[in-house]
Amino acid sequence: MLEIRGLSASYGGPNVLEDVALDVARGETVAVLGANTAGKTTLLRSISGLVAKARGSIVFEGESLLGRLAHTIPALGIGHVPEGRHVFPRMSTTDNLMMGAYGDRRSRDLAARMDRVFALFPRLAERRTQMAGSMSGGEQQMVSIGRALMGNPKLMLLDEPSHGLAPIVVEELHAAIGAINKQGVSVLLVEQNAVLALSVAHRGYVLEAGHVVLSGSAQDLQADPGVRRAYLGV
Ligand code: ATP
Repeated sequence: MLEIRGLSASYGGPNVLEDVALDVARGETVAVLGANTAGKTTLLRSISGLVAKARGSIVFEGESLLGRLAHTIPALGIGHVPEGRHVFPRMSTTDNLMMGAYGDRRSRDLAARMDRVFALFPRLAERRTQMAGSMSGGEQQMVSIGRALMGNPKLMLLDEPSHGLAPIVVEELHAAIGAINKQGVSVLLVEQNAVLALSVAHRGYVLEAGHVVLSGSAQDLQADPGVRRAYLGV
């Protein structure tokens, strides 16, 4: 579904990503692990057309993505849940969700899409009219994921969804990511929380200083001594 080859990216200075290769098959959840500044966010931003100096090839369902304008990417079926959530603070839950369907707001199934989000996150249904800025971090993360789902993505890019959240909320999000994948949406999940990432992912990649240094099944990565030492704290 997604095939990345020879991807290099920079913000004008040295390359932040160097010769990265990564695949996501239809129906898969793929995790990208890495420490701070490894380049995880840059990888997702490159897919979404948000890094001007990205070179190599990124192909999604046969369409080449590099060089496309960022606002044209969601319509191809890619939903991006950014690091830091970026909800619209002075807009209600419902209005935030509707922004995720901005590209096809005339679509007849918007109510059904919203029902699907509320089924996944009942807490949002209770807070339909609440301003997103007054919600907890976990609730804002749900709004951000729900907003991406409103675009009916085939592939979701999730950037550190567990960052800064209490363990109980992290578990809830973890279950939601599993449910989204079971509904047929492929997931590319970037996480510093390797325990969470490898428990929901089928496969994973380890990114260090912009290079993929290891890849394999989630089970193999969980068993790898280097991964266990560096990312699983065991
Ligand atoms: P974190 O978990 O801390 O977000 P990350 O693995 O997601 O880390 P990136 O955010 O991709 O890493 O950053 C990789 C490198 O690129 C860092 O050295 C960072 O300073 C640099 N970088 C990121 N965004 C920009 C930008 N807009 N302009 C210049 N440099 C940037």
